[in-house]
Amino acid sequence: MRVALHDSDGTRFPNLALMKLSAHHKAAGDEVCWFDALEGGSYDLVCSSKVFTFTEEDPYLPEAAIRGGTGYRTKATLPDAVEHLMPDYGLYDLDYSLGFTTRGCIRHCDYCFVPEKEGALRAHADLEEFAAHHDVVLLDNNILAHEHGIRQIERAIALGKRLDINQGLDCRLIDAAIARLLAQVSWLKPLRLACDGRGQLPALRRAVETLRWHNVTPTRYFVYVLVRDLDDALERIWALKGMHLDPFAQPYIPPDGEKPTHAQSAFARWVNHKAEFRSRTWEDYAQAHGVAAA
Ligand code: SF4
Repeated sequence: MRVALHDSDGTRFPNLALMKLSAHHKAAGDEVCWFDALEGGSYDLVCSSKVFTFTEEDPYLPEAAIRGGTGYRTKATLPDAVEHLMPDYGLYDLDYSLGFTTRGCIRHCDYCFVPEKEGALRAHADLEEFAAHHDVVLLDNNILAHEHGIRQIERAIALGKRLDINQGLDCRLIDAAIARLLAQVSWLKPLRLACDGRGQLPALRRAVETLRWHNVTPTRYFVYVLVRDLDDALERIWALKGMHLDPFAQPYIPPDGEKPTHAQSAFARWVNHKAEFRSRTWEDYAQAHGVAAA
């Protein structure tokens, strides 16, 4: 059977579901290749995956293609036998591993699709199921909220892996015991936190103090900042700057996939363009770009 895989997002981030489908079909003796619209008729099966709601759908994808992923607004998941396979990292020539040790989340943030799509937090996989490399990216939504997730961080430390906990750590769950654990992690990338509303600032401040007190030493502390209300976002940005943390702004994308407003996008560009961020205030940047600052 000739199987074509289609990565609908086309971003630089590899698609985990496609890597598992590739492993599954190769193990079954199928020929696996990337989808090419010019060869549309020559495939026995086309599987497309789309993570992001904001990327355009490919108009050349055949009607019969199997579509999966949050970007297609489907809750369909891979069959268990495929889900728990070692991904085919060769599909994207990766020199690191990635996967989920838990799925779901304990929280219900109103801007997030995870609770609806994945449901309650639960154990999903042991680290060894997908960690084929020295460097491992964990995609868990809220790894500290489940004992199994914490055990997998311990396992990574014991195995000498370098970790990137890619979706950010929940500040409200960082206490002295967690900080002592994280102090033993070898960090592949900055330690990532999130601060999505001004109400989270006290918890963030406490978490960072606890982490620093226990000598957690990533190269940087990186904080995701959701940009919805500009005044709220600006208050958080100033607070983060004052704490010597590195903000990364993400404009809010509504559930219908509509684009962020011009002002939200401009605000994110200002924060994420480090030279601009260091040299100009938001008000100056907004004025220079013809955007209302609030
Ligand atoms: S904590 Fe993160 S994953 Fe959980 S609901 Fe909120 S935004 Fe989503």
